[in-house]
Amino acid sequence: MVKANYHTHTTGSDGKLKPEELVKLAIRKKFDILGITDHYHFPPGFRDWGNDYYSTEHFRELKRLKKKYKGKIKILVGVEFDWLKDYKSWTKKEAKKRFDYRLVSVHFVKIGKEYFPIDHSKESFEKMVKSSGGIKKLVKNYYSDLRSAIKSGWFDVVAHFDIIKVWNKNNKYFSGDEDWYMKEVRKTLKLISKKKMKLDLNASGWRRPCDEQYPSLWILREAKGLGIEILIGTDEHKAEHLEAGLARSELLLREIK
Ligand SMILES: [Zn+2]
Ligand SMILES: [Zn+2]
Repeated sequence: MVKANYHTHTTGSDGKLKPEELVKLAIRKKFDILGITDHYHFPPGFRDWGNDYYSTEHFRELKRLKKKYKGKIKILVGVEFDWLKDYKSWTKKEAKKRFDYRLVSVHFVKIGKEYFPIDHSKESFEKMVKSSGGIKKLVKNYYSDLRSAIKSGWFDVVAHFDIIKVWNKNNKYFSGDEDWYMKEVRKTLKLISKKKMKLDLNASGWRRPCDEQYPSLWILREAKGLGIEILIGTDEHKAEHLEAGLARSELLLREIK
């Protein structure tokens, strides 16, 4: 079996390891494939922080490492884009750069005039639910954004598909088997399949309050049934994350076959 991690971060965005440190670690751990998917910087005017992410120098460095370690490990120069509905033309232009593949994520949902981060804190999430007029509206808003991102056709992989459940341990806000929820999920999966995009099986959910991989098992099963290709990633941000949850994810993939 090929040992791969398709979702990793370095000092090129909010990760702790320098790109070359990550590559060397992955070689030591006998990975065949390492996809480096640093966060792309935000569009001008969006937020002050994170704007130094994924510089031109970083892009060049990844290309250099890809060449340097060819034969030892297959490095893929990836990226993780944020879907921000008011910044489509900027995103379209930036996504055209020659990455090996592009993840797309909805980390922020716009409610009224403000963008709220989904996974920063429970308090902030509570605020989102209130401002949205209830959890159902917020979740629908999230999946609707995700579908817009998929429809754009600018990306290759949907990252942490159901990150909206991050604070939903013990079904605190909603239950994944409610009709309205399943409908949203199925609609989104169908679109992924239609657009021939891939799905990130993301182990970082086990490190978060939801204590479950993204996406949930039933969603993985349906994705598989639709013929959607699934890529395993740990959303690595530091050395300990490189293999965290990897074996567990592989097991899940085998289970749904
Ligand atoms: Zn992400
Ligand atoms: Zn990530």
